[in-house]
Amino acid sequence: MSGFLALVLGVLSSALTAYGAYRTSLAHFHVLGAIPVGALLIGIGAALGVAMAIRLTAGYDTANFRIFAQMGGMAAYAGAVLLDYVQYQLHLGGTGAMTPDVLHVINYAKLLIEFGGQAIAAQLPTSVALPMPALLGGGVLRLFAEVLGVVVATGWTISYLVDVPFCWTHHRFYQLRHLVECADMSAVREWETAIQQRRPHEARALLARVRASPVAPSDRSWIRVAVHQCSVCHAARVRIERRRRISLGRTLTEPAQVMQFDAARGSALLAT
Ligand SMILES: [Zn+2]
Repeated sequence: MSGFLALVLGVLSSALTAYGAYRTSLAHFHVLGAIPVGALLIGIGAALGVAMAIRLTAGYDTANFRIFAQMGGMAAYAGAVLLDYVQYQLHLGGTGAMTPDVLHVINYAKLLIEFGGQAIAAQLPTSVALPMPALLGGGVLRLFAEVLGVVVATGWTISYLVDVPFCWTHHRFYQLRHLVECADMSAVREWETAIQQRRPHEARALLARVRASPVAPSDRSWIRVAVHQCSVCHAARVRIERRRRISLGRTLTEPAQVMQFDAARGSALLAT
């Protein structure tokens, strides 16, 4: 269900972003300093649909959603460039030249790289004249920075919109460490107690037990545990949710408890 919704909303937001980016020429010439601002905006726009789907279905930003959204971001960027290309081709050949011509595509790619290099050269003092190979190299580098910018912006937007904690010490979003659905309620409760009483060895053993009792189709209600953790200092947030099946195959999710751990407790209690 959430996968299908993510597909529909993701494709929709990528398509709208590509069109908007084409209308505002976002795919070109928007590197400020070393930051590809246009590409970042495209990434943010393309991520909106998937983030909305995750929110609506009370899901989490698992690796699959993330990869899908990042592919959507790159597709939006490519779409904006493609629309620009179509306009370029129309401009060159009039209305009769809609079929893509290999020569035109190569020319356009060259133009894109050359313009990128010129945009970089424009930021240098006028006394510095770049030779052609350096200009082209700069253009390729810039294209690479733009695609990277799209991917990074997509990931950040999803993390921000689906409420992933941010580590201000290490300037990064937490990673999803564990996402466990467990029907063994007593194991979850014992695990919580072990965490609260700071018994790391038992907590780890109990987490293994929680992970080992998955939800069967016959279970009416169960517990979901989501652990987000900073990859450097291991500070963490644990969210425990009650889930139960309601009519028409839908699942209702109710937040039950949120626990924050600083670096020391997080690495002691939640290390894998
Ligand atoms: Zn950290």
